[in-house]
Amino acid sequence: MLPKRRQTNTVSIGALKIGSTEPIRIQSMLTSDTTDVEACIAEIARLDAVDCEIIRLTVPNQKSVDSLPAIRLEMEKRGIKRPLVADIHFNPRLGINVCEFVEKVRINPGNFVDRKKFEIREYTEQQYQEELERVEGKMLPLIKNLKKYGCALRIGTNHGSLSDRVMNRFGDTSEGMVESALEYLRILRKHDFEQTVLSMKSSNPLVMIQAYRQLVLAMDAEKMYYPLHLGVTEAGNELDGRIKSTVGIGTLLCEGLGDTIRVSLTEASENEIPVAQSILQSTRARIYNTDFISCPSCGRTFFDLESTTAQIKARTSHLKGVKIAIMGCVVNGPGEMADADFGYVGAGPGKISLYHGQTCVERNIPSAQAVARLIELIQEQGKWVDPA
Ligand code: SF4
Repeated sequence: MLPKRRQTNTVSIGALKIGSTEPIRIQSMLTSDTTDVEACIAEIARLDAVDCEIIRLTVPNQKSVDSLPAIRLEMEKRGIKRPLVADIHFNPRLGINVCEFVEKVRINPGNFVDRKKFEIREYTEQQYQEELERVEGKMLPLIKNLKKYGCALRIGTNHGSLSDRVMNRFGDTSEGMVESALEYLRILRKHDFEQTVLSMKSSNPLVMIQAYRQLVLAMDAEKMYYPLHLGVTEAGNELDGRIKSTVGIGTLLCEGLGDTIRVSLTEASENEIPVAQSILQSTRARIYNTDFISCPSCGRTFFDLESTTAQIKARTSHLKGVKIAIMGCVVNGPGEMADADFGYVGAGPGKISLYHGQTCVERNIPSAQAVARLIELIQEQGKWVDPA
């Protein structure tokens, strides 16, 4: 049995919601300098065009905070309604100031309050508690502004930047990542702030997978049901970057975990979105377009699978949610396309059989006419829509 999606609270990122009752959201992050309003707007427009639902930008200084009203104004003029997330490191003051201009703030619990000194020391229980009280004190003005402006918060833990406090007690481990997030979660909960999303990123998909699993167990033990933002950080580019993200994000999605995802690529940010959509589609976590099932072909194949698949895709790839199988022969064909809605199966040299579900509805169609007949069959079964 396939695992069910983990039940979570719902978190509002402006008008958009994140959580188990919502579709899994796709997000990305600008590579532009936040003080360059023109570049940011151009990049936001490109992300908007490919359906990126949440857009994060870095806010490393007050000048970046000051750019946000101009960015928002230009988005409004262009009718772009995507929520913005401010990425904050090292500076609690910026986190407080930015709440007015964004729908969500991301902080790193490893560096939001703590300065990394790489000190090796034993913390007594009292010293550890004093540090947590210091964190709580610094969080209070942020919590106040998050509530005031209706902003959500992501506790974005990174494997590579845990605080000295956590490193000394838990080491550079997934347990340390989980504790790093829980320290902040407990403070937020104590002060009645529930609009929180969590992430546990690492450049190593195995560490990342382990950390998310442990976080869920730890949250369950404390009756916390916050949504998860999944991502493999610094995944790289091209094929390697895509595969790393697919392994990390895809594995967790298959376990029913994850409410929003970001595929990090060292490429133009808009390149991340089709990869994210494909991961969601492949794990059947969210359906964006037609699902194609095609065999790899072998010596038994009765037609040119590659060109025929391309031809069928060109005509039908807009049929969201429809599953079409393209199989080279009848040997494994019908069995392996079991959950497809329609099947296009080689029946003999130059001959194709068409299936509706498991039933063969037409045999030995000359291959030159078979793609057109497949389209007619989809139309007859009421699954066709004209391309936009
Ligand atoms: S379905 Fe037929 S043609 Fe395709 S790989 Fe299997 S045996 Fe080969």
